Amino acid sequence: MSWEDTHPHVSPLYAGLHCRCPRCGEGPLYDGLLQVAERCKVCDLDLQKADSGDGPAVFIILILGAVVVLFALLLESWVEPPIWVHLAIWPVVIIAGAVAMLRPAKALLIALQFKNKAEDTGSLDHDEPQ
Ligand SMILES: [Zn+2]
Repeated sequence: MSWEDTHPHVSPLYAGLHCRCPRCGEGPLYDGLLQVAERCKVCDLDLQKADSGDGPAVFIILILGAVVVLFALLLESWVEPPIWVHLAIWPVVIIAGAVAMLRPAKALLIALQFKNKAEDTGSLDHDEPQ
């Protein structure tokens, strides 16, 4: 009898937003700030197989970059602050926003990979007949 037979299904959205294991929804996904744990402490799922790497970072960079540029332009057009105000505000917003958005985005992608049974296909075998 497998884990799925004895435990309720966990929503990828729940597991992602709470940064929890995609199978049990209870064990923490991360072992540190953005380091995916090797195994779930509750259900012993191998979490390294589903590590999404830098994939979610691209989306976060694009979304956060657009938002920061928009607000920087709005601040400049409304208040016209000295340049040091921009230099003091935006790096902090970018770093804090990236970390805050990257944790749940990475967890959501891992949960979706688990739900859809996505896995590494390995290297392409070029010796196979066409
Ligand atoms: Zn688990």
